[in-house]
Amino acid sequence: MDGKRQLNSFQQLEKLGEGTYATVFKGRNRHTGEFVALKEIHLDSEEGTPSTAIREISLMKELKHENIVALHDVIHTESKLMLVFEYMDGDLKKYMDTHGDHGALKPMLIKSFMYQLLKGVDFCHQNRVLHRDLKPQNLLINSKGQLKLGDFGLARAFGIPVNTFSNEVVTLWYRAPDVLLGSRTYNTSIDIWSVGCIMAEMYSGRPLFPGTTNEDQMLRIFRIMGTPTEHTWPGISQFPEYKATVPRYPAQDLHQILPQIDPVGIDLLRKLLQLRPELRVSANDALQHPWFNDLIHHQQAAALQQQQQQVAAQQAALQSQARGGYQQQSAVGQQPSYENY
Ligand code: ADP
Ligand code: MG
Repeated sequence: MDGKRQLNSFQQLEKLGEGTYATVFKGRNRHTGEFVALKEIHLDSEEGTPSTAIREISLMKELKHENIVALHDVIHTESKLMLVFEYMDGDLKKYMDTHGDHGALKPMLIKSFMYQLLKGVDFCHQNRVLHRDLKPQNLLINSKGQLKLGDFGLARAFGIPVNTFSNEVVTLWYRAPDVLLGSRTYNTSIDIWSVGCIMAEMYSGRPLFPGTTNEDQMLRIFRIMGTPTEHTWPGISQFPEYKATVPRYPAQDLHQILPQIDPVGIDLLRKLLQLRPELRVSANDALQHPWFNDLIHHQQAAALQQQQQQVAAQQAALQSQARGGYQQQSAVGQQPSYENY
């Protein structure tokens, strides 16, 4: 089907958001009635769409996971590029602003969001994809309490060379110290730093390191995490943006700064917010952290309860069927046994 006709199969509804190089609308599939999010990419009218961008974006269609917003389609016409995503009810920033207590969320909800965030990040990393722009505005939420990663792959798709990473990719407040220091050889650990910043923000309702410039961002991090030295971070003086003149701040106790977080949560946060990228925990290991134990037990108990309710409902249906139309027949043999479950 050509792009124009494909576009016509969606009814464009209200605007959902506007970002750096895209406008996102709510849309409705005219055939199925299903809601979608339509992301219209602003293209340079002279250059058109680079075919590499289309190829990169199309690759995202393969990245299917329950904690990653599904990309249904990529529609390309002469004048625009439209990405068709699964529809979500909003992003985490808006959710914190409207449902939070001065932006802060409840501990059990934070734990659930953190678990889903790490699952999505782990899946990306297992598939050799870096998100590189994790922040509350790029995490999408629906009314079922699901959290999914959105808005990624695009920085790379739009012309940033794959091997020599640019150090201008992650939004300043969530940017890892190694990237701020000018490292271009970063890896999955840059996403983990952002996850740590997001965890702190969900508890306090405020960004942890709201810097205004590259240098201010670095100082804000050092003021809390301590200024790294050659002793604590061998090789740090070799980074292009390293300045020997930065004040030597001692590390502060994260527990004092974020008293809302329980000690086990603080332990995870510390592992996420390691200054040295090689010391930062991986998403996969973070998912095994004891902080998630009660959440996992709770989920298992809920799943078991649901299963038991289904069995009970089946049994009740069979019993009423037996009492009704099949009175002559013995219903005993039709009853499911709990032992089978
Ligand atoms: P940009 O690259 O311009 O930042 P995003 O993909 O982050 O674009 O989208 C901008 C905003 O639009 C998001 O912060 C969110 O509020 C909204 N949005 C994006 N995708 C969806 C979606 N699938 N469902 C609902 N809202 C969305
Ligand atoms: Mg965005």
